[in-house]
Amino acid sequence: AAKRTDGLLVGAVDQGTSSTRFLVFDSKTAELLCHHQVEIEQEFPKEGWVEENPKEILQSVYECVEKGCEKLQELNIDIASIKAIGISNQRETTVVWDKLTGEPLYNALVWLDLRTQSTVESLSKRIPGNNNFVKAKTGLPLSTYFSAVKVRWLLDNVPGVRQAAEEGRALFGTVDSWLIWNLTGGAEGGVHCTDVTNASRTMLFNIHSLQWDKELCEFFGVPMSILPNVRSCSEIYGLMRRGTLGGVPISGCLGDQSAALVGQMCFQDGQAKNTYGTGCFLLCNTGSKCVFSEHGLLTTVGYKLGRDKPVCYALEGSVAIAGALVRWLRDNLGIIKSMEEMEKLAKEVGTSYGCYFVPAFSGLYAPYWDPSARGIICGLTQFTNKSHLAFAALEAVCFQTREILDAMNRDCGIPLSHLQVDGGMTNNKVLMQLQADILCIPVVKPTMPEITALGAAIAAGTAEGVGVWSLDPAKLSSFIMERFEPQINAEESEVRYSVWKKAVRKSMGWATT
Ligand code: ADP
Repeated sequence: AAKRTDGLLVGAVDQGTSSTRFLVFDSKTAELLCHHQVEIEQEFPKEGWVEENPKEILQSVYECVEKGCEKLQELNIDIASIKAIGISNQRETTVVWDKLTGEPLYNALVWLDLRTQSTVESLSKRIPGNNNFVKAKTGLPLSTYFSAVKVRWLLDNVPGVRQAAEEGRALFGTVDSWLIWNLTGGAEGGVHCTDVTNASRTMLFNIHSLQWDKELCEFFGVPMSILPNVRSCSEIYGLMRRGTLGGVPISGCLGDQSAALVGQMCFQDGQAKNTYGTGCFLLCNTGSKCVFSEHGLLTTVGYKLGRDKPVCYALEGSVAIAGALVRWLRDNLGIIKSMEEMEKLAKEVGTSYGCYFVPAFSGLYAPYWDPSARGIICGLTQFTNKSHLAFAALEAVCFQTREILDAMNRDCGIPLSHLQVDGGMTNNKVLMQLQADILCIPVVKPTMPEITALGAAIAAGTAEGVGVWSLDPAKLSSFIMERFEPQINAEESEVRYSVWKKAVRKSMGWATT
């Protein structure tokens, strides 16, 4: 039987670090109608290097769109009902390609990649202590995390990239730009653009003027001619050129963490969400104010939902490694076979028996920003087994979140009364309970797990000239929520947290060059 919908649907591509998804939502009810997901291969060619293949990323998008559409047809829903497509993407990950051939000039340098550590160290010396213009303009600390240093590495180290830039053939983009350029026609007229949220993660973008910044581009040695046009998060960028959805407008684009902020309906000043994916990202909406942290958080663009709409800023606590640790236990150590097994093992033991795991694989991000930190496991005894390690890994994610939540509370002044969460890892109920215990506040999770994609769909559906998203955002707050209440006392939680901090101190400075 035909599944009943009132007709107007919005598709969302969620291109994450671990996987790509395509999802279709009903624009009246925000009901998720269908979903297809493909895992993305990550390459680690050298110690500290993390790459992905841009063509594989693009192919995974095509595959997800086609398979998603097939699933929609199996529900007897007309594909022509899809009126718009939104994109959310892993941020900072850097692609440079040739606009004549459409070929990437190198693999994508993933945000976690550490190869630019020495570039960061030498550039840091050129920033006057009393005038950190990079921080003032971008809201970001100088770090391997952001795109500018990655582009610089590609220009300096990959044969042909600098020449292609000089000849006007090279284009730079974060993953959103790479996808939109290809989806709208590639070498035959593809649109080279990005949105303000993705631009704000490059370190080349002035978050006050919302434009590329000449001084920053000179400082990082990045030619402005390779940069995409910066647009709002909700407007028609172009039309899908080929495939089942050929002709459908792409009208929403946000970095994944901004998309989750929108998907969680954090539209008010002071509202916050934490997303548990490859890393963990806590964002708090600060409205029209650009708030600068005293405690190691970033200032970033939250969203701008339309050309004439105001920009909203956010304070962000970024943790590099969360779900990536689970993947590491599976792929590098082989001590778990699946994500589900992780939960089972941790649940069986219910404790790490004093084992602490600091997953500083890519240095430490917020609130420490120590690129020389490296991962450690401490407190091992003869008794320790893989279940304890699994538990310690989940606990590490919770402690890292506690650190950024503490920083957020200090910066904002008003402590959060509960934590709104989403992301792939929140399927893990042991993790969610542990998080409530370690934060000593309730953790609240929407039962519709695809919040990042929903944010992209809302941006696409509400764009000028599309206007199919008839849903009143207020109604979405009636989404069914699952709540996890703290079950241990605050003292016990404090003791464990203080041991965690001791472990963090041991991990810092390890790889000092
Ligand atoms: P991203 O958007 O960064 O690609 P997702 O939100 O898709 O990430 O979440 C995927 C991550 O969550 C993976 O790193 C995976 O290891 C982790 N994950 C997924 N399910 C579970 C689970 N049940 N327990 C622990 N970790 C999980």
